[in-house]
Amino acid sequence: MPGSFHIEYFGCRAARADGEAVGTHLRAAGLAEEAPSLADLVVVNTCSVTAEADRAARAYIRRARRLNPDARIVVTGCYAQRAPQELAGLPGVAAVIGNSHKALAPEIALRTLGLRPQLPTELVQILPAAFTPAPQQTETPAPPQVAQVAQAVVWADDRFAHSFLEEAQLTPGQQTRPNLKIQEGCGNRCTFCVIPFTRGPSRSLSSEAILRQVEGFVAAGGRELVLSGINLGRWGRELPSPADPGAPRTLAALVRLIFERTTLPRLRLSSIEPMDWDPALIALMAGFANPAAGSPRLARHAHLPLQSGSDAVLRRMHRRYRPWHYAQKVEALLHAAGPDLTLGADVMVGFPGETNAEFEETVALIRALPFGYLHLFPFSPRPGTPGWALHAESPVAPRVVDERMAALRALAAEKSRAHRGRFLGRQLEAITLHTPAELAAQGRTSALTENFLPVEIEGRMEANQLVRISVSGLTPDGALAASLQPSASPQYAATATSV
Ligand code: SF4
Repeated sequence: MPGSFHIEYFGCRAARADGEAVGTHLRAAGLAEEAPSLADLVVVNTCSVTAEADRAARAYIRRARRLNPDARIVVTGCYAQRAPQELAGLPGVAAVIGNSHKALAPEIALRTLGLRPQLPTELVQILPAAFTPAPQQTETPAPPQVAQVAQAVVWADDRFAHSFLEEAQLTPGQQTRPNLKIQEGCGNRCTFCVIPFTRGPSRSLSSEAILRQVEGFVAAGGRELVLSGINLGRWGRELPSPADPGAPRTLAALVRLIFERTTLPRLRLSSIEPMDWDPALIALMAGFANPAAGSPRLARHAHLPLQSGSDAVLRRMHRRYRPWHYAQKVEALLHAAGPDLTLGADVMVGFPGETNAEFEETVALIRALPFGYLHLFPFSPRPGTPGWALHAESPVAPRVVDERMAALRALAAEKSRAHRGRFLGRQLEAITLHTPAELAAQGRTSALTENFLPVEIEGRMEANQLVRISVSGLTPDGALAASLQPSASPQYAATATSV
């Protein structure tokens, strides 16, 4: 066995998918997973969405170094792209790989361990001399903006030529419902957001590669797959004209093709910007997420980032919709998928200049819409974004931000309870998950409903079983308490098993 690794994840689902893909490549190279205190290689997949995210990554790196001084620490992700030199200066960091060079992360990580896998020619040409297995050719161009800082080698530029980490085949392993990341980067310029700088413009994985992944996942016994991306709704827009005029160029056409060409039982869409919910995408909810037409193959779950319910704040944020557009999209989605749809949103609190009246507009919009959950974030100024200067001009006092966060947290909890309470006494479809030991000891199984509600089922079952459940109550944590229901469909597990 050539060694061991640990990956520490920070950030969103898309970042998680990046980290999982690196892990799959490392396992394929023969490395075993190990606790961070014992691993030969610790990969830290950073986020940079807030100053707090940066701080958490730095603290983790220092802790990993303290616990395991011999480990090679490789830092990647959004913070590594935004401020690589900052990370390269931390003790113990062997390499910093920005999102611009993410495709090379597994190879670079292996090389920090002294392993020398066979590299594709194009990678050898850009690796710096310290990492190349053979003497450099004199005509080999120097790697773009690669710098030696302290002990760490930095890989980051603004060309993003090696940024799409095409994943090794996804299988239902540690993650029952893995993310398939099909889109990277973002061409929007929301004034608070650092992502266009840390991940570059929008790029899409080809429909052929996506179909191959989905077919391989189904063949490996996978039941639910999550399509994810940084700006998922833009999938396909920049792809070159395909030789096959029938090839999909929009997310809606892609999803339809997946359902036509594969037998994947369930597909979930992760976050999609409000204005990217076009009529074709919403129509899929009516066609594939409607229980009247059989088991929903498309999960009745829609996550539309809201950020603010104030027209003026949305304008300052350079968001491309107004509050009434948002409400119209929600109405159309509910009409297509029915009222069991679970609606989620991100909401940002304390954007520069946010007045009490503007905040109350957000509260009023949230009250008016049937959200099942909210992800709440305090505004955090990111260097290099317009929001940084706006914050310098008109910051919202931290005490006010705290009060507004508390008010929205209470409202979000109220909305979540009301939404989940609607399902008491009802039957729903779900997929079983890996159950935490504490819950397993109580003879129960974790699951997630097709419409994105956490469940605890009476009885023990293995992960990755499709089940029908009957909801009897809510647990103290707010999950649905449920029992297994018999189902005539052969794809559903009908009885609890001892595991
Ligand atoms: S849509 Fe806006 S918030 Fe989302 S990634 Fe793009 S720039 Fe950032």
